[in-house]
Amino acid sequence: LGIAVSALAVSLVACGSDDGGSDSAGGSGGKKIALLLPESKTTRYEALDRPLFTEALKAACADCELIYSNADQDAAKQQTQAEAALTQGANVLVLDPVDGKAAAAVVASAKGQNVPVIAYDRFIEGANYYVSFDNETVGKLQAQTLVDTLKAAGKTTGNLAMINGAPTDPNAADFKKGAHSVLDTSGYKIAAEFDTPDWSPDKAQAWMEGQLSAIKNGLVGVYAANDGTAGGAIAALKGGGVNPLPPVTGQDSELAAIQRIVAGDQAMTIYKAVKPQAEAAAKAAVALAGGGEAESTGDFKGVKSTILDPIAVTKANINDTVVKDGIYKVTDICTAS
Ligand code: BGC
Repeated sequence: LGIAVSALAVSLVACGSDDGGSDSAGGSGGKKIALLLPESKTTRYEALDRPLFTEALKAACADCELIYSNADQDAAKQQTQAEAALTQGANVLVLDPVDGKAAAAVVASAKGQNVPVIAYDRFIEGANYYVSFDNETVGKLQAQTLVDTLKAAGKTTGNLAMINGAPTDPNAADFKKGAHSVLDTSGYKIAAEFDTPDWSPDKAQAWMEGQLSAIKNGLVGVYAANDGTAGGAIAALKGGGVNPLPPVTGQDSELAAIQRIVAGDQAMTIYKAVKPQAEAAAKAAVALAGGGEAESTGDFKGVKSTILDPIAVTKANINDTVVKDGIYKVTDICTAS
């Protein structure tokens, strides 16, 4: 198929002991940890997950080696990358699957080689561990903030458009479920709804453009499942001359989205603190690679897990969330563009 395997081995500073001996986590020294991320159009993966996981792994195990790859939204490519990591001797896979169901094949092949799999952010059946956020709550927070914004503006009826995430991403179903649980009884009409293949901002934009003539009149709000699709929706609304813009939701606290919130073009986003997520995954990876047990805060569908809390971000709390946590400086947000 000529698929380029972009798995890149990065050696993480040997700590001086050359006996391959133990470190604080016990028995995990010199182990290989593979991190497999799903895409790069959504900025979190390369800007946050990758560097924060790298840092957390270094802190948890100075002489572990990181094998990194990004699948660019291609499930077949991710499978090839996972196989390559196993061939390179990965002792544990930290996998954020492009396609949650297709990833079962990766789990089977890893298990066949006694390599544990950590489902990172997106759930995988049969994984040994799962680290994510409460994703149904993400959808509820998005929808509730949309409803609150509309009510505050005196709009109690009207049409909504819903732009969900990729059908292959199990999180997308949870966001959608959480959002519907609020919107279905909110008094607004869901006039059109779309599941965005690959979470592609371009496909979200094209869909919104195609809907405009039919639903523009009476359109009071747009539920967009993440900041990429929100950006696509907003571009379509602006291009279609919709003025003023209806409130649009998002997720991930991407810099562009925070800037749109400040400018008044987007109503909200979700802040999911990737640092504790990456740290929990790195700790679990080191424990499992050394044959130990990972600490967990509970079970999710029978898999030991750490589940973190998402936070809704509007203009009112940008300072108390992403700025306070050092994700962005005010000067990053407030650049003239
Ligand atoms: C993640 C979101 C992200 C989306 C698109 C989801 O699984 O939880 O943070 O926006 O995938 O990559």
